[in-house]
Amino acid sequence: MKNKMGFILPLLTLFVGNTGLAEQPADYRFPRECTVTPDGYPVPLCGKPLTKTPVVVRKEGASLKTYPEHFVPEQEELAPNEMRITAVGSGNPPVRRGQASTSWLVELGNGDRFVIDAGGGTVPALWSLRIPLGQLDKLFVTHLHLDHVGGIFNLWDSMGWARNTPLHVWGASGSTPDLGVAAFVEHVTKAAAWHTRSKTGIIPSGGMKLIAHEFDFGQFTESNTIALVYDENDVKIYAFPVDHLLEGAVGYRLEWNGLSMAYTGDSVPTRYEAEQAAGVDVFIHELFIDAPTFAKQNNMPLQIAENVVHEHTPADMLGRIFAIARPALGVGTHFFTNDYTIDPAFEGIASEYSGPVVIAQDLMVINVTLEQIVTRMAKTDLLSWAAPAPPPPPGAKRPPLEPYVTEGRTPQWVFDTRLTGEE
Ligand SMILES: [Zn+2]
Ligand SMILES: [Zn+2]
Repeated sequence: MKNKMGFILPLLTLFVGNTGLAEQPADYRFPRECTVTPDGYPVPLCGKPLTKTPVVVRKEGASLKTYPEHFVPEQEELAPNEMRITAVGSGNPPVRRGQASTSWLVELGNGDRFVIDAGGGTVPALWSLRIPLGQLDKLFVTHLHLDHVGGIFNLWDSMGWARNTPLHVWGASGSTPDLGVAAFVEHVTKAAAWHTRSKTGIIPSGGMKLIAHEFDFGQFTESNTIALVYDENDVKIYAFPVDHLLEGAVGYRLEWNGLSMAYTGDSVPTRYEAEQAAGVDVFIHELFIDAPTFAKQNNMPLQIAENVVHEHTPADMLGRIFAIARPALGVGTHFFTNDYTIDPAFEGIASEYSGPVVIAQDLMVINVTLEQIVTRMAKTDLLSWAAPAPPPPPGAKRPPLEPYVTEGRTPQWVFDTRLTGEE
């Protein structure tokens, strides 16, 4: 057996190596060498965005801001008229080490920040952006699939260290009360009862609270297609339904200061959703791999793979969606980025749409102004500590700890055997 493998592996390496599309474990390193696909796109995880239009100039002749090659946290001020969108997680389940599930961060020049979806594996990337954690307290969820909300425990827990205020969660109601975001938040809170009780009186409790802001999915009709669900500080966030399995799945459109973005979560492409995102600066839409590749790579019967793909958006249909919405930049996400999946996806999109398009990978950063849209990759510290907290407002007092709960603690007879070093 060993001899056979010893013979086969070098052969494989030879073949793959010749194409420049190395996928063997021996080639795994970060960042990877930036070879290109046969169609000329950078390979994933090499520090370059997956696009041929990293800079989209919107106003010819305008004096354009220049950006460093990579976005490095804490080293770039967001201008007052600028929006920055970061792909915190660009993937699907099952969670990949190099591609977490789904989450997006939208930062505005007025200081506001919004997290949209918090899928599994995304919180470490969010943490690595070194944003004062107390400022990450607004989560909007597109729907309650676990690849979009499975990271909520991590978000709640990690941010709870530094934030002594609740995590607010926006999302839609479902067809029955137990399927809405309010029920989800209630159940998450209950599921964490042991966690919360154990820490009460030891660390501040304010950050351990979740508050749901559920909006009524039933309000959407053919004549009432979109609803304002957030309106503060000149930021307007609209929700609209998408075609994704059950009632309660929505997309969002955010508008601020003449800039806009839309993100539709998961969906079968519909003309309706494309129209809700019409004319936005950045339109983030799911993109799904073809059924044969999905079946093969997941050891799944083709029929099951086709069932899954049927509920999502293939590349040519994403092109059609962008052709209706005409965003300044179209973003495909929720996609399995591999060296060999990039080209067919771009080819499919291009069969229907010729505007600027990028395929998301984790920690891709998009800066948006009225003059240009610039897409880069972030470089972050894999061993980052928490970001420094901003100074508290003058006169602010730390709230006192809640009383320590004594009931139900470690049994006294176990406690009595604690080692003191003086045995
Ligand atoms: Zn999903
Ligand atoms: Zn989904």
